[in-house]
Amino acid sequence: HRMEEQPNFASLIEDLQRKEAKHVWHPMTQQRSWSCDESKPPAAVHYAHNSTLYSLDGSTKLDAMGGLWCVNVGYGREELARVAYDAMVQLPFLSPAHGSIPQIELATKISDLLDWSAPAHAYFTASGSEANEAAFKIARQFHAANVEQDPSGPLRYKIISRHRAYHGNTAGAMAATGQAERKIGFGPQPPGYIKVGTPYPYRSRETEAQHGLDLAASLDETIRMEGAETVAAFICEPITSGGGVLVPPENYLKEVRKVCDDHGVLLILDEVVSGFGRTGAMFGHHHYGVTPDIVTLAKGLTSGYQPLGACVVSDRVFANFHDCPDAVHQGKVASTLPPRLAHLRSINTYGGHPVACAVGLRNIEIVEREGLVERAAEMGAFLKRTLEEAIGAHKHVGEVRGRGLLVGVELVADRDTKTPLDDDACGAIVRRCADAGVVVGRNASTVPGLGNVLILAPPFVIEEHECARVAETLRAALDA
Ligand code: PMP
Repeated sequence: HRMEEQPNFASLIEDLQRKEAKHVWHPMTQQRSWSCDESKPPAAVHYAHNSTLYSLDGSTKLDAMGGLWCVNVGYGREELARVAYDAMVQLPFLSPAHGSIPQIELATKISDLLDWSAPAHAYFTASGSEANEAAFKIARQFHAANVEQDPSGPLRYKIISRHRAYHGNTAGAMAATGQAERKIGFGPQPPGYIKVGTPYPYRSRETEAQHGLDLAASLDETIRMEGAETVAAFICEPITSGGGVLVPPENYLKEVRKVCDDHGVLLILDEVVSGFGRTGAMFGHHHYGVTPDIVTLAKGLTSGYQPLGACVVSDRVFANFHDCPDAVHQGKVASTLPPRLAHLRSINTYGGHPVACAVGLRNIEIVEREGLVERAAEMGAFLKRTLEEAIGAHKHVGEVRGRGLLVGVELVADRDTKTPLDDDACGAIVRRCADAGVVVGRNASTVPGLGNVLILAPPFVIEEHECARVAETLRAALDA
């Protein structure tokens, strides 16, 4: 408001817009449209509170995407800002080779929350992509060190993932990502990344249970055909997020776990989106009674207030490295690699940054104190119900689905044939919602015609009247 009172306020906004179009290169945006036609970049967001973004020009938007499905505790938490301030004054940086107090406490907290049968061990990064890169390295190193248990260990390097997956932006994580459009022109990709199908109950002709069995069987066949002794790990999200909000059949993950165990393949779960309550449980895999060997985390770890990721491994994986205390002190280690090579050979300068860890720790405290995981479950159910009522019968809505506050709306040209609504129409609906003041997401248009799932992943503090507004805005956009 203080800025609005300035006499040159309009020109100040214009100046920012001009500089933005010229000097800031935004990801995944056709910036040309800003500079070549009459349209201008949106006026910069300068402030946000709970689920609302406030722009310099006075406009507001309800952020039903929670940033990039990460601002779980909502915007404007002064408590987190104070924690960051204190942590920065105390210790602005520490080499990741040392443990800061926040890092130690956060690793312990994550292990407690995961609630696996044995302690979990966290390697911190600054992003989800780096956490997945670390997971691939660790999986390969684990096998290489495991010759006594598994003579084929050193031969295992392949990573199997799924066609609709997104696992990140760095070389390995991009290779594990399925979505073709993200990789076209950037080849050749690193070798050894194999793809299988993703559960998609809405488009399956089988019962859910059979669909789950079929997909697990296809993973089993792929592993056999590749040569099981060459496969290091299978990675998937417990519930697919960016690939189209795909909730798997209840039996799927358990079947996948069995297949991995049968072949000595590690199971990596990417919980970058689903971790810390997004799906209405603390972790996505808690819904399905499955324990992975490795889990990767980011986003909700700090609610996006600081960049932080983690690659967290089971006790069995950890015990195969010479830097495991049990290995050193009790001679328990199975590693057959020389000590020089059998430690975690990976480092990220900003991994486990003390300020980020302090914020992460307090963020988790807020989630627990305010019962936000339960709230995500309840508000998710409310949002889905409200959407069903408003647009469930709309001729362009194939399905409203999701778990917790991870909700997808699949758009179709025809409900009987389930033909996806074309990309342009889907894009127009997202833009109309934005013009009406509601930010909704859309899955990546992985191949032409597949960007037809709208995504809603608001902060867990979203309120009922805001959910109703999202549904109303979507209905109007679909009608238009
Ligand atoms: N995995 C999943 C499931 C993601 O959604 C993302 C980010 N959208 C990543 C990994 C990569 O995380 P980052 O962008 O922090 O590198």
